[in-house]
Amino acid sequence: MSTKDYLEKDYYKVLGVTKTATQDEIKKSYRKLARQYHPDANRGDAESEEKFKGISEAYDVLSDEKSRTEYDEARSLFGGARPRGGGQGGFGFDLGDLFGNPGPTGTGGTPPGGTGERIGDLFGGLFGRRQTTQRPRRGTDVESEITLSFGEALDGRTVPLRLTSEAACPTCRGTGAKTGTVPRVCPRCEGTGQESRNAGGFAFSEPCRECHGRGLIVDDPCGTCYGSGRAQSTRTIQARIPAGVRDQQRIRLKGKGAPGENSGPNGDLYVLVHVTPHKVFGRSGDNLTLKVPVTFPEATLGAEIKVPVHRGQPKTVRMPPGTPNGRVLRVRGQGAPRRDGTKGDLLVTVDVQVPSKVDETTREALEKMTGSLDGDDLRSDLLRMAREE
Ligand SMILES: [Zn+2]
Ligand SMILES: [Zn+2]
Repeated sequence: MSTKDYLEKDYYKVLGVTKTATQDEIKKSYRKLARQYHPDANRGDAESEEKFKGISEAYDVLSDEKSRTEYDEARSLFGGARPRGGGQGGFGFDLGDLFGNPGPTGTGGTPPGGTGERIGDLFGGLFGRRQTTQRPRRGTDVESEITLSFGEALDGRTVPLRLTSEAACPTCRGTGAKTGTVPRVCPRCEGTGQESRNAGGFAFSEPCRECHGRGLIVDDPCGTCYGSGRAQSTRTIQARIPAGVRDQQRIRLKGKGAPGENSGPNGDLYVLVHVTPHKVFGRSGDNLTLKVPVTFPEATLGAEIKVPVHRGQPKTVRMPPGTPNGRVLRVRGQGAPRRDGTKGDLLVTVDVQVPSKVDETTREALEKMTGSLDGDDLRSDLLRMAREE
């Protein structure tokens, strides 16, 4: 609704009351008209629906003394005329100028100084309130999670996800009333949804106890939603999880969340991915990791060792002589897939094994070797440096 609409509408006429009508008269007339034009009593009749909307809008403004006074003031300021630029005898400005651009654009009267700002406040407050029910609303984001095996995460997968979100009950179309019946205006709050309570000499406004703030009472509740008007709707979507996804990664699927309201956009779906660990392979970013046991002679003298890769024939890796424990060897292109279609590497960590039992021949060979390597020599630097401050 634009500011122009607001001034063009004669809410008194819509409700069929005079400008001096009391709140009682306004309420009475509203209830009568609301019953007559309620969408549930006029299924599929677009004209009634429009009328019903207009009645609710008018009642919203006129039933609140503050907004009614503001509306009256605004109408008298602009005469309730159609404030379009240039019209003979009309107003020579566009209402848009009032708020942004103080200069007059036409020949007619400009509003008294300072009024623009106040009217701006009025519109901000008034339409902020109205819009909560009518403006397009984006659907909420939905969270979901899945667990993939190590290999599925590397390949990517399309998984069916059952999603549950709240929506208007399809049976009663959100009214909460049984088919063929209509909710009635709450007698306690007279449709406002608010009631005042006095505490210590102050009046508080709080949600009506009778209708819980809805303003309407359902006598014959809808059997599907038990009168709440809301329902859980479940749908199954196919979620595409990209290849190479990592454990604890959150995938955003745009527009796959809850549907928007009043032609607003859909929300997004976030899928938290859990990946089951593999028995031998690990992940480090785009690389796969693997620990490979090697013997002491292999590490010392160098060797060609066969290492497994994920899905494929084992690869032979050359380990140079004198490879220390913990050294990482790289097998290119055997890691996780990346977005650009390339792959990370396989990082092989050398794990030198110390034999727990040796036979006589080995023992002799090792003892001969010990003669050429002095352990005390090996540790002398360490012992010396440890004494330094
Ligand atoms: Zn229902
Ligand atoms: Zn109530």
